[in-house]
Amino acid sequence: MGTTGISSSVATGARIAVRLAAVTAGGLALAACSFLDWGFMDGAAKAPPASIDPSPTRTIFSLPRPSIPGLGLGGGPGVMSAAERQCRAALKRRGVQFVDIAPIRDSAACGIDHPVKVSTLARGVALKPAATLNCQAALAAAEWLQEDAGPAARKRYLTGIAEVRNMSSYSCRRIRGSGQWSEHSKGNALDIGSFKLKNGHVIDVSRQGLFAMRARGFLHAARAGACDEFSTVLGPGSDADHADHFHFDLRQRRSGYRHCD
Ligand SMILES: [Zn+2]
Repeated sequence: MGTTGISSSVATGARIAVRLAAVTAGGLALAACSFLDWGFMDGAAKAPPASIDPSPTRTIFSLPRPSIPGLGLGGGPGVMSAAERQCRAALKRRGVQFVDIAPIRDSAACGIDHPVKVSTLARGVALKPAATLNCQAALAAAEWLQEDAGPAARKRYLTGIAEVRNMSSYSCRRIRGSGQWSEHSKGNALDIGSFKLKNGHVIDVSRQGLFAMRARGFLHAARAGACDEFSTVLGPGSDADHADHFHFDLRQRRSGYRHCD
């Protein structure tokens, strides 16, 4: 066992060394400071940054989060980083309809370097009205719709989701009752008020009656699943401000803590 343990830790060390070499090469080649941050910010034992591994799994763009809080994936205005481009490729693979829009810079606290305007979250699933988000948030929303909310609807209603009601996306504002800027001010958050199914049935996020078992089950599953993609999940019961919608965001916390309420 001792021998196995040693050789395994040697192998692990070798893999980390290879990863670090790849991170260094990638960072130098692309001259993108965000990759260097990913590689060296917290020491050697970090996973490789998303830019190195192009395989289309749902976790690539979920972790690690962008190194520049809320402004997308780095690169600064006018220079789209490889990670930003990969995020767009992932949106396209998922059938998400979006357009790149001009950089938003409303104040020091409010803006998006590379915003996207998203009009569907999957093929045949409209997001209405279209949402202005950073690409990471758009991708997290598409992953959530496709991996969690969509399957939850099909399981309980035997039909898919046709439309998701966007109540707020980019918005330059502070969190009510606090001095802190909302993740909406960076295009890093999406509020959802209701779902329309392909059979026309509408499910509101606002608290359902005690005997609305199917709607409650769907909303519970959709909300619980969102914690896989987002780092903040709020909704009815969290506080008065979220009584009628889900709030999902990608707030970065130093501890890596996810607030799923
Ligand atoms: Zn919100």
